[in-house]
Amino acid sequence: MALGNPAIGWLPQSYWGDSMKLRVLGCSGGIASELDTTSYLLDEDVLIDAGTGLTTLSIEEIKRIRHIFLTHSHLDHIAGFPLMVDTLFGHQVEPLQVHAHPETIEALKEHIFNWVIWPNFEELEFQGVSAFEWCPMEHGERVQVGARELEMIPVNHTVHGVAYRVVQGEKSFCFSGDTTTNDSLWQTLNQGAPLDMLIVECGFSDSAMEVAKLSKHYTPTLLAEDLKKLSHKPPIGITHLKPGEELEIVRDLRAALPDYEVIHLRGGDIFRW
Ligand SMILES: [Zn+2]
Ligand SMILES: [Zn+2]
Repeated sequence: MALGNPAIGWLPQSYWGDSMKLRVLGCSGGIASELDTTSYLLDEDVLIDAGTGLTTLSIEEIKRIRHIFLTHSHLDHIAGFPLMVDTLFGHQVEPLQVHAHPETIEALKEHIFNWVIWPNFEELEFQGVSAFEWCPMEHGERVQVGARELEMIPVNHTVHGVAYRVVQGEKSFCFSGDTTTNDSLWQTLNQGAPLDMLIVECGFSDSAMEVAKLSKHYTPTLLAEDLKKLSHKPPIGITHLKPGEELEIVRDLRAALPDYEVIHLRGGDIFRW
């Protein structure tokens, strides 16, 4: 596994102390060799989105996850979740806590855990323990998990979508989830302390502007325009790049954002703050 992107906050393991560790399991807009879809592991116990990046974890690593925070119901962000539940079932002393907006929870209940696509695990227990339980979360709500606090922020996508701001002490980062032009994310971020990193999607190149607008993703031009609403300039980790168009998107972003540090995220990257 790569210890990539040493530019931001990288320290040897012995110096981690109480810092947060974020491991990029998958951050691509699609799949191919060495490309997996959205999933981030916060320390060892919190997963943010559960795309195919989950498949890079060992069984032991999957068993250590106690909380999942979902941004929205799209397959590239949840594909690993039902399969992970199957791996965990029968090996748990308490249910996995799955945090999401009620609309996302309803979508997954109706379209995934419906006994047609996958079993309804709410009806299954092993020695009195269910595999997971839903934890509905509203916009602006903050959930404390150990020393970390995760806040749900609404964004603008084709289905109900949210970002999460994660704060531990004086350190913080935000993950945008999937979104296009919006005000809510930037207004909320302006109300908090400056971020140590903003992980934001840029799903398409400007040459695919029409499909980006239809599918409600950012392009370099749309993202650069929205970043003018942010009152500080954190390092920008770019995620959800369309496979095969990564270099074009990152090149155009760097040209559009000369005052920012633009980091092309890759699966296996680890950040610490
Ligand atoms: Zn999406
Ligand atoms: Zn997506």
